[in-house]
Amino acid sequence: MADAGQVLEEERDPREEALRVAALSQVRQYPDPVLKMQAREVESFDDDLQRLVERMKRLMKDAYGLGLAGNQVGILRRVFVFQPGEGDSLALVNPRILERSDESETDQEGCLSMQGVRVPVERALSVTVEANDPDGGELRLELTGLTARVAQHEIDHLDGVLILDRTDADSRREALAVLRPQPVLGASR
Ligand code: ZN
Repeated sequence: MADAGQVLEEERDPREEALRVAALSQVRQYPDPVLKMQAREVESFDDDLQRLVERMKRLMKDAYGLGLAGNQVGILRRVFVFQPGEGDSLALVNPRILERSDESETDQEGCLSMQGVRVPVERALSVTVEANDPDGGELRLELTGLTARVAQHEIDHLDGVLILDRTDADSRREALAVLRPQPVLGASR
């Protein structure tokens, strides 16, 4: 089962759980307005960008996320990090989807900015993404399956688009019932 924002809950030791709660407290939560805003292109590949990428990778890992976008840490820059399968996490800067497969698939997605919510979202089964790496080098990635889903989810974040905007009306209504009223961050989970 794909879950683009978040790894399924599993047995976690207390230290990992403490790290997860601490990481989530640094991730902007719905309905924070920054999640609806358009991120800007990155122009300088400087030390600030390297630090941002390292911070985002750490937060994603600690929070058991599969991806994390700039908006979610309050930075309106076109950067996201993701975990492609088993290898090291990757950072994509100024990503663009060049091609989407005609074939699509609907599956459940979660989001680190919407705790406790999973909704069905239709995504292209594969995408070709062009981006810069954090040093300014050029990348072109052919992504399929869950990795393609995560990339589409994160690029949506950079455009201020959330899974609530992509799901059906009933699922949206149910998700909003979970999201309101807002729990105090980190208090209950
Ligand atoms: Zn998300």
